[in-house]
Amino acid sequence: MLSLRTILRATPPETMNGSSTVVLENIRIGVSKTTGNGKAVCRSHTPKETQVKYTTSVEFEGRGPDTQVVITCSCPDHMFRWEVALTKKGGSRIMYSNGEKPVVQNPTEKPGCCRHAFSFIKLLQRKGTI
Ligand SMILES: [Zn+2]
Repeated sequence: MLSLRTILRATPPETMNGSSTVVLENIRIGVSKTTGNGKAVCRSHTPKETQVKYTTSVEFEGRGPDTQVVITCSCPDHMFRWEVALTKKGGSRIMYSNGEKPVVQNPTEKPGCCRHAFSFIKLLQRKGTI
């Protein structure tokens, strides 16, 4: 797992700004059967992404800035920019990408997150879940 602090520090400002329009639906918060950690899952999209709804998940352990998390999202930004970089540091799993380095989108492999995951994290923080 990887700390929330590390991920939020690596997430670009434009992603954080873009997260304000993200709509989160079907939010479910429970416990992962495989790891025993907390797990939150939702469907996410923005008004421009009405044709597609993504699946965003945050597995978590602990609370506050040092909460340890594993993030996944089915959107292209997560797949092409963040999934491999996060997975190398324990902050995601290869679920949607082919596992190859994000040579174009994220050559320095910063462990940030997409706007859906960012929006979901902010919601979970407001709710006091993480
Ligand atoms: Zn996403």
